[in-house]
Amino acid sequence: MNSDDNKIRGTGVTKLSTGAFQGYFGGCPHCGESEGPHNVGRAHWLVCREHCVRWWIGENLFAAWRSETPEEWEKTRCWLSGFRMVDPVYGEDSNLGGEADGNGL
Ligand SMILES: [Zn+2]
Repeated sequence: MNSDDNKIRGTGVTKLSTGAFQGYFGGCPHCGESEGPHNVGRAHWLVCREHCVRWWIGENLFAAWRSETPEEWEKTRCWLSGFRMVDPVYGEDSNLGGEADGNGL
């Protein structure tokens, strides 16, 4: 299935600046895409649906999670569990540490 996994990272990452937050919180290591945030409680995740990957970007960065219900979080958690956890790629001028330790679930 995922025969593309061995591609050199950084090549073809063309969608980084067009994803969520213009790639500030990183993008899919395969294409640079990012979508989200998706909240599980106070934890925020970004995903690339095409490559079925996810990465944790932090907790309580956005207020939106407070307006969601535990049922919604559980639904999101289930949905996210189908995605593979990865380290996202960042743009050249990113100054984030890039740690995705995956403690959000
Ligand atoms: Zn992707």
